[in-house]
Amino acid sequence: MRKRSIITWLVAILCFVVLMIVTPAIPQSQEYHDFADHRKFLGIPNALNVISNFPFLVIGVIGLILSYHGNYFRLSLQGELWGWTVFYIGVAAVAFGSAYYHLKPNDSRLVWDRLPMTVAFTSIVAIFIIERIDERKGTASIIPLVLAGVISIVYWRQVYYFCYFVVCNLSIFGVLAQKLILGRYFDDLRPYALVQFVPVVAIPLMAILMPPMYTHSTYWLWAAGFYLLAKVLEAEDKLIYKWTYHVVSGHTLKHLCAAMVPVFLTLMLAKRSIETERQSLLKTWKISWVKVKETRTNDESCNYNFIDVSTTESQ
Ligand SMILES: [Zn+2]
Repeated sequence: MRKRSIITWLVAILCFVVLMIVTPAIPQSQEYHDFADHRKFLGIPNALNVISNFPFLVIGVIGLILSYHGNYFRLSLQGELWGWTVFYIGVAAVAFGSAYYHLKPNDSRLVWDRLPMTVAFTSIVAIFIIERIDERKGTASIIPLVLAGVISIVYWRQVYYFCYFVVCNLSIFGVLAQKLILGRYFDDLRPYALVQFVPVVAIPLMAILMPPMYTHSTYWLWAAGFYLLAKVLEAEDKLIYKWTYHVVSGHTLKHLCAAMVPVFLTLMLAKRSIETERQSLLKTWKISWVKVKETRTNDESCNYNFIDVSTTESQ
């Protein structure tokens, strides 16, 4: 490993440690499990929130088939194939994890909802590193990034269980310690929030600023847009249920909207080709903006000439 890489890693670890020391723990709110739509259809509790995960399975399986069937996506690097494979496995697994959680929403089932989502998320970061920074580093980062995501969830839930066992079952500290220690230091979503937050910021930024290897880069931004919309729908679960006269809730729409993320990425994979002129989206936008401005200035000067000619003739 080069000196620069070591320094980057040390700075990143230091930032993480400082962040964990200076910020308070974020416990999982129990209100999160109280969704707007509890309706039961065909014997399935919370039916629409369960069924609306089905598109994840469809797009996950389609993506996996197309990745391997005659190299439909024209993936030229081995690391890309591994990265997209992990991504589509994560997407397909969301269907099972999320459906399992929504059948009976609680903390222990939420682990299975979040785990596949985190795998999909982190593999996307690795794919981005392969495509835009360095193939070798990106390929080597697939496993560590996915592991970081898994550890963030293990830290939130399993460390809590372990300490709960030690504190309560061995009865060293009693109820007071259970509240003070477990409430303060465990049941902590900070690493998970970080794993979610970093890709949300890093992916659109890298998509805009870094020269791509392939065409159709704007699809990344469409995917990011749908993800943000999904987050808004999730936050307004009850309000949307009220607005739609109890037809559909915000959380059900969130699932459908989030499924559009892999749909757009699959469309991108199907359509794109190797970029011959490697330039960032920002540069492309700048060039088109300058062209638009030039055309407008030319049009305006043509108009002036026309007005000049007509006034000269009338004189
Ligand atoms: Zn959900």
